[in-house]
Amino acid sequence: MVIKVEDIPPEGLEIEFKQEKRWWKLEEKRQFLNVDLAKPVVAKISLSVTREKVHVTGKIETVLQLFCARCLEPFSFPLKVEMDFMLFPRSLAPHTEAVRLKKEDMEIEFFDGIEVDIDQIVAEQIFLHVPIKPICKPACKGLCPVCGKNLNKETCTCERPRFSPFYKALKHLKKKAS
Ligand SMILES: [Zn+2]
Ligand SMILES: [Zn+2]
Repeated sequence: MVIKVEDIPPEGLEIEFKQEKRWWKLEEKRQFLNVDLAKPVVAKISLSVTREKVHVTGKIETVLQLFCARCLEPFSFPLKVEMDFMLFPRSLAPHTEAVRLKKEDMEIEFFDGIEVDIDQIVAEQIFLHVPIKPICKPACKGLCPVCGKNLNKETCTCERPRFSPFYKALKHLKKKAS
């Protein structure tokens, strides 16, 4: 969905945005990510224009499918994003240092000054809120480092080192030094 700046009325524009799960992987660069949608994306977005700049506010809701960094299993991750930022035409970019100082607490993004790409904004906002190390549940036991079994589902009898190899190396060094 693309909105032309000239089509945004003075009182602003309210947009209801909805996309099915497959929308996420339509963009080629997102096909390789370990992130997918488990539910459609629903967003309510308001746009208003002040002197070429577009103020974007709104809410995005969906459920992501992520892979746990400990046990590697897929899991659902409900996501709610509140957004509030200004889109600046790139032609104003040289002056942004001053702009930044003036509006310290306002997030700023850039665009071509002509069209607002709602799909891109929603996708970027989702991506910004994906945790770097997603965990399926705080108590996730992860995989056995020896046999690779998922310790949430089964147990194993492997002897697991009590200390990490790094810690052992450190102990060794200390002994040497004394
Ligand atoms: Zn897990
Ligand atoms: Zn094991």
